[in-house]
This record gives sequence, structure tokens and C-alpha cells, in this order.
Amino acid sequence: MLSSGRTQPDRCPGVLAVHEAADGGLARVRLPGGLLTADQLRVLLEASTDLGDGRLELTSRGNLQIRALRPGAPQELSDRLYAAGLLPSIAHERVRNILASPLSGLDQHSRYDVLPAVAELDRLLCADPRYVELPGRFLFALDDGRGDLATAGADVGVRMVDADLAALLLAGEDTGVRVTPERLATVLAEAAVAFLDERSAQGSSAWRLAELAQGPKAVLARMSTENSTAEQFAPGEPVRAGRVADALVAVVPLGSLERPQAEVLAQYAVRGLRVTPWRSVVLPGLADDEVVERIAAAGLVVDSESPWNKVTACAGRPGCAKALADVRAEARRVTPRLPARHRAVHWSGCERRCGQPGGDFVDVLALADGYSVDGGPAATAEQSVMRMR
Ligand code: SF4
Repeated sequence: MLSSGRTQPDRCPGVLAVHEAADGGLARVRLPGGLLTADQLRVLLEASTDLGDGRLELTSRGNLQIRALRPGAPQELSDRLYAAGLLPSIAHERVRNILASPLSGLDQHSRYDVLPAVAELDRLLCADPRYVELPGRFLFALDDGRGDLATAGADVGVRMVDADLAALLLAGEDTGVRVTPERLATVLAEAAVAFLDERSAQGSSAWRLAELAQGPKAVLARMSTENSTAEQFAPGEPVRAGRVADALVAVVPLGSLERPQAEVLAQYAVRGLRVTPWRSVVLPGLADDEVVERIAAAGLVVDSESPWNKVTACAGRPGCAKALADVRAEARRVTPRLPARHRAVHWSGCERRCGQPGGDFVDVLALADGYSVDGGPAATAEQSVMRMR
């Protein structure tokens, strides 16, 4: 047995390496930093309409998925995405897992705009064949200082301490290494190489940095950095629906973006969109009340107090063969009745709990005879609602 306990490469889907789900092929399109132009959104929407089920799914890593792809569709999909600039390197497509604070550069809580470093890191990864070896689960995170990515579970990350320095984090822990803004991408790329080298030295097939023996310490020892005393950083809050400075955050209920909703977003995304890890999108530069009303009328949530800010679900039935229930239908039915100020809620069709959020959440798990809430006895979805506090 290898040191991580892993015996196989991960099977995270991509555009060409689709996952065969119960409802057909599932392709995942990486969006470094969650960034997308309106034209790119239209390309994805048309591709889903022509080749899949017409929807776009938002993932817990700020990516988009197309479901129910017909046989032979991945090649055409990859051609379209390449032409739209969404697939800069086919060899690297599954390793472009880069999260960034979705409100970076947009409000007063942003200590430094990390988005240029996202683009630079993506370029560094795609230009070097060594990074093809990174597991599809390996995650980079660039936090603009607000701490919203503290529970994202990134393998390597930076968090701005102030406008001039960032902390280097490995497996979520501060290393004590401090990085100037112009070196953010370089240091993250260097950390990824150190992970690959250490993994090789340990004879491991680890997917995540924390799976290596002495992971953070061993990886840091391979880097040409100087560290001082590490700090404990407080976690920040995920973004919520509503206006933030001159941007709008719109929650996509259960991360399922229907065609009319995507069309409205593409129409008004004058400065592009940012897909967040919390099943929402940020539209920078959107102050017009009438536009906000149109977005809400399409079924997207713009109310910061809506329960949809904190409810997620896995694919469930019929999309996933492992699911014991249609958890999305149940979640849609009972979410409007959730008690005020409830905790985050995640519905899972089986014990794998795909797409669960980071941090604290109410764990609603489908059983053969109902739902368990936080490990409690089986109950109907309705009975479970009052336990979701
Ligand atoms: S949690 Fe289970 S049922 Fe839900 S998508 Fe994952 S494998 Fe399927």
C-alpha cells in the first residue's frame, strides 16, 4: 500500500475525460478564479443545449458542468471550448483548479486584487508539462484577505495579510512564509512542484497535500522560502446574495442554472461574471435596479436573507446511479420552509456527500426509508425541516 493509501489516479471529470453518470456524460469545465465573459457563458449555454441537457451546473469549486452529454459530444464540446478560450491546454485541463475570492477588488474588504495572479498562475501551469501530473483534486486558492476561502480545503494557497504581503498556506495552515503580491503566482506554482517532488520521493499516489506524510512540512522544506512565526487566521464569510458595492451577487438555487437564467446573466454581464464556490455568481458593475429585478424575475436569488443562500445538494436521482432519493426535488420543496437564520444545509443522495460545503453544515442524508439529519434517525423531508437549525 502506498503512503497515502491511494492506489489509483483520481477520476475527476474534465471536458474530454467525461464521467459516465446515470443521465449521460458529465463534463466539468474549469474556470480559474471562476472567471467567465458573457460570450463564454453563451458558448457554454449553446453547447449544453446542443450536446447536453441545456443546463449549466455550478460546482463547489466555482466550475461549471454540463450533464447528459450524448455519445461523441466531448470532442465537439472541446472544440467549441478551445475556440472560446476556455480550454487553453487540453493536457492541463483537469489541473486548472484555482479558486479566488469572488469579490476580489470590488469592495473595501479586499486587501489586494488577486485576480491578475490567478491569470498568471494559470499561464504558468499550462506552460509547463510537469503540472500535468497534478491530481485533478489538487486545489489552489488565492484569498484577497477577507478569509472567505479559509474552509475551501485548498492544498496550496495564499491569503493577503495586507496590501503588500500574503501568507503562504499549505493544507490550509499558515507556513509563516510571507510573499509579496508580484510573487503570488510563482510561489504557488513552486509549491505545486514541491508537492509533486515530495510525492514522488515518498513513492505516493496522494491526491492531496495533506495525504503525504508530514505533508505541509515536507513540501515547505523543498521550497526556497524563508519563514517566520505562523499565525492563526480567522475564517471569513462566504458571499451572500445581494448588492456588494457596485456588484450584484445572484444565488443559483442548488447550482442548477437553467437556460433562461443563463441568458439573462449573459445579457447583463457587462464586465463578465465570477462563478463562486457557493453556487452563486458575481456580476461586477451592476447598479441598475431594473436589471436586478429582471435577474430576480428569472428565478435567481438576490435577497441576502433568502434560505437559498445556504442550501446545497448533490446530483441525486435521476442523475446519479448511487442516489437513494431525488434530493434536489426534496430540497426545492422544503427550503422555503426552513427556519430563520438556519445553518448551511447540504442534501446528499448517499454517504459520499458530493459537493458538501466547507465548514459547519446540517448534513441531510438520504436513507432507504427517509432522511437522516446530522446522523439522527430516519424521518420524512418535512419532519427533517425543523431539525435544520
Ligand atoms: S453524494 Fe452519492 S448520490 Fe450524491 S452525487 Fe455523490 S455519489 Fe451520487
